[in-house]
Amino acid sequence: ALNAENELLKDLNEPQKEAVLHGDGPLLVLSGAGSGKTRVITRRVAHLVQFRNVFPWRILAVTFTNKAAREMRERLVHLLGAQAHELVVSTFHSSAAMILRRVLREDAVAQAVGLTRAFVIYDDGDQMQIVKRAMREAKVDPIMQPREILHRIDQEKNAARLPDDMVVDVDDARGVVVQKTYRAYQKLLRAANAVDFGDLLLLLVDVFRKHPAVLEQYQRRFRHILVDEFQDTNPVQYELLRLLAPPERRPNLVVVGDDDQSIYRWRGASVDNILNFPEQYAGARVVKLEQNYRSDQNILDAAHAVIQRNTRRLPKKLWSDRPKGETLTILLNRDERAEAQEVARRIHGLQREGFIKYSGMAVFYRTNAQSRVLEEAMRLARVPYTLVSGRSFYDRAEVRDAAAYLRLMVNPRSDADLLRIINTPARGIGDTTVERLADWANQAGVSLYEATASPERIAGLNTAAVRRLSGFHALVSSLHAFAQDAQDSASAVDQMLKETHLVDSLMTEGSDESITRAENLREFLGAAQEFDLNRAAAAVAVSDATRTPAPVEPGEEDLDSSPLTEDTPPLNAFLEQISLVGDADAEVGDGKVALMTLHAAKGLEFDAVFLTGMEEGVFPHSRALRGDDVEGEEMAEERRLCYVGFTRARRRLFVSLAQCRSLFGELRYNPPSSFLAEVPQALFGIAEQELPPAPKETPYVKRKRDWGDEDDGPRVDRTYSQTSDGEGIGGDVRGMRVRHNQFGMGRIISTDGQGPNAKVTVDFGGQVGLKRVIARFLMPG
Ligand code: ATP
Ligand code: MG
Repeated sequence: ALNAENELLKDLNEPQKEAVLHGDGPLLVLSGAGSGKTRVITRRVAHLVQFRNVFPWRILAVTFTNKAAREMRERLVHLLGAQAHELVVSTFHSSAAMILRRVLREDAVAQAVGLTRAFVIYDDGDQMQIVKRAMREAKVDPIMQPREILHRIDQEKNAARLPDDMVVDVDDARGVVVQKTYRAYQKLLRAANAVDFGDLLLLLVDVFRKHPAVLEQYQRRFRHILVDEFQDTNPVQYELLRLLAPPERRPNLVVVGDDDQSIYRWRGASVDNILNFPEQYAGARVVKLEQNYRSDQNILDAAHAVIQRNTRRLPKKLWSDRPKGETLTILLNRDERAEAQEVARRIHGLQREGFIKYSGMAVFYRTNAQSRVLEEAMRLARVPYTLVSGRSFYDRAEVRDAAAYLRLMVNPRSDADLLRIINTPARGIGDTTVERLADWANQAGVSLYEATASPERIAGLNTAAVRRLSGFHALVSSLHAFAQDAQDSASAVDQMLKETHLVDSLMTEGSDESITRAENLREFLGAAQEFDLNRAAAAVAVSDATRTPAPVEPGEEDLDSSPLTEDTPPLNAFLEQISLVGDADAEVGDGKVALMTLHAAKGLEFDAVFLTGMEEGVFPHSRALRGDDVEGEEMAEERRLCYVGFTRARRRLFVSLAQCRSLFGELRYNPPSSFLAEVPQALFGIAEQELPPAPKETPYVKRKRDWGDEDDGPRVDRTYSQTSDGEGIGGDVRGMRVRHNQFGMGRIISTDGQGPNAKVTVDFGGQVGLKRVIARFLMPG
């Protein structure tokens, strides 16, 4: 037995062993990234079962993601064999679901909670339906969007508060709306014998609080509780732990974490949980792990250089006896498309060298909106990839809303689309009104849109409802008219976003989540702009050919070579393209590069990591650069996120940035991320490229995206406007030196029009002479 025990402990260092062998009572393992915290949990569980005769079913091990739970189970099956299946190794949510079903066996509990064991778990889509109904039943003022109310309800649940526990000021109209809706929402869920995600934890906490006898069974059962990524537990999760393992009993609660990796503040997690653990659980043993086994020294040094600037953190050392390894690589690119292509090229190169497999590589980004361009580049370069835990861009609710508006713009009779957005953003059109409208339309045999044309004819509508329906009709009809004349899809999307106030309403809502959603909408505009540019480039390529006649075979001069797409109106063509993108998105599997947000990367490790968008305003996110981050809390969290990103890498760390980036439908010239400047230059080795100096005054400059795109069409170049107003060719540019791919260097003689489509007369000198060219095909010379 001793040999077997040694076997289990042999590849652990001293403090790891101490944690694994720790006897009874609370234990906090606190240490930096990659120091073997997760390994400690796994080994300790195995050791408890094999050498301390703890029954596996008495052990509850909680991890942060399903993926992490699966990996831990697999490892334990390896160490323990069949016994491992009796362990509870899962996320907070799924363990709570299991326990909740079980406590509902008791009639008294089931009655008190209002659920039976057959309850179902609702997803976001279902939640939205329920919130809408709840708003109607609670007769709340339509001053808030259902989505916003739902977000607030989720927050209440994260904070372990039921409707009655909410503290709402009578003057707080929005708070009142949330509370009333929340109450009705819970009733509706119970009526449907359903719970949402937040309920799983909250209802269990509630049962435990109200039924001490039930709680006691579980306190006794789970003699050992182990929690990974403890720094990111939110109040309801912590409350559940405190109930199951009350501090005053000196329970066997082992928590492991790293305050430097606390990145879920926005979901209600508090780094204080880990900082205060030794006080909460008086007498807790604290073990620190200091050796990192994951990353080469250069990577660790870079991570350390960044994180050490955070002030409120526990002192920690982290060393590695790994070699220095390769230096970090900076990839400096012109724009986000070039960046994505370069990342794809490097990935391809690493794979071809043979040392790193596709599955050992990951690409991280700060916000989901950045994934679209990266995905496209991977597809083009034929690099197999998986989008981790991100719903496809076009599946996002807000993007679907926008697409529904666009479809209505071209086809107002699309009832399903109309139903989707008739009250998005909230415009006070309740479900009853919609029902009456639908009934009337049904009987009259007209579309819903047509029925909104004269709502006064619909029985049972009050004047307010009639007015709102008329307003809605005017909106759709105006958008429809606009779409008829739209020359491109971006202007239609832009118009739609303006008239509907989709973005404005999200920005007013102001929660982090709603800002992300607004960003996605702007990115949707970016997709339309890109689509138009590609289309325009294709069209220009053709008309260029007619202007500068290419050699044509005799007898073929009259051939119609115009692109067939010409016949499809631009907006329809755009809509067609996005529905096709949606279909091709479903591949998952191994042997693929992982694309994910930094948040999703927690706890994982990869041989090679690409951290993209290392620009001020992108990462750190502009949110952390606003004046209102007085405490520097947002910035500190961004910094932790950077630390998490760097420390995922085992051997190679690439950081990439773009000089200008079109993100959220805007063109920005962002200086390099301040995090990069914090990394000692030596860690980057010989600079392959010079970093441009950071602009002095503004952290980032917003500019409209307004020029051509180079991926389609062989002779398309970008015009980098040097003018100070940033509006493409504008101001007085006469005499400016420019370059054209075909005609070479020249000087601008005159311009006709503004922006990327301006017609510019250029003197190319010599054989070429004067030419009229489109501005977007010119580069500054
Ligand atoms: P994070 O903070 O990122 O969650 P962590 O502290 O949980 O990291 P682990 O994932 O447990 O760290 O370990 C990091 C890597 O180091 C893993 O590949 C693990 O197998 C390896 N490792 C951990 N401890 C040892 C050890 N004593 N000897 C050799 N390798 C180890
Ligand atoms: Mg870990």
